[in-house]
Amino acid sequence: MMAIERSEVRFGLTAIPYMVRRSQRRGTVSIAIDPSMGVLLTAPQTTPIARLDRVVHDKARWIVERLRRGSADAERTAPREFVNGETFLYLGRQYRLRIVAGAVAKVVLTGGRLAVTVPVGSAAAVRKAVVAWYRHHAAERLPERAAIWAKKLGVAVPVVLIRDQRRRWGSCDPKGNLRFNWRIIQAAMRLVDYVVAHELVHLAHRNHTAGFWAALGRVMPDYEARRERLCQVGRRFEW
Ligand SMILES: [Zn+2]
Repeated sequence: MMAIERSEVRFGLTAIPYMVRRSQRRGTVSIAIDPSMGVLLTAPQTTPIARLDRVVHDKARWIVERLRRGSADAERTAPREFVNGETFLYLGRQYRLRIVAGAVAKVVLTGGRLAVTVPVGSAAAVRKAVVAWYRHHAAERLPERAAIWAKKLGVAVPVVLIRDQRRRWGSCDPKGNLRFNWRIIQAAMRLVDYVVAHELVHLAHRNHTAGFWAALGRVMPDYEARRERLCQVGRRFEW
């Protein structure tokens, strides 16, 4: 039985703790980043810890970056459980889920909480009620935003349909109907508006040509920042 060795390296203000696994067959040191275990070195039997500290220090920037990215991915892709206290987003604000037993299914946004009343508090029942609530609000708010941005763009107010399309935020069909993913209503309004304005510009410009981006930029000069932000936070909305 081998004792697990541990050490820690400082990189600026960041402490990088790591574990060492000794291997008789190893001639070199290797570093692995494990989302749950952290930093794990595999090293020959005789390499002193001081030497391993230097190896970690030399790779510190890469290690910190990997750890940071790993935890961000975990947060974004953590499966939804639909339990009390879980955080849900609506128009960019966070609300805590509160499940209440009651005969008639109902969802209310109140005092920082998303209060869900369901007869049976199973995850499936709560999910169904929550999704219906999001869809209802998407169907209310997205046509309002489309009307506002259609006016700015000088185009006719289109038909707006709400869909369950996991991968796309919006689309524009050849007849000029706009479809939006209900999930976008979790985003802050300025990101919702980016998606709405983007699809409206497609009424005049089918493809993402220079003319398309110029038309969008005329009504939304900061569209690039909004698009970038949506790329960063978008995966949190996919559940
Ligand atoms: Zn597009």
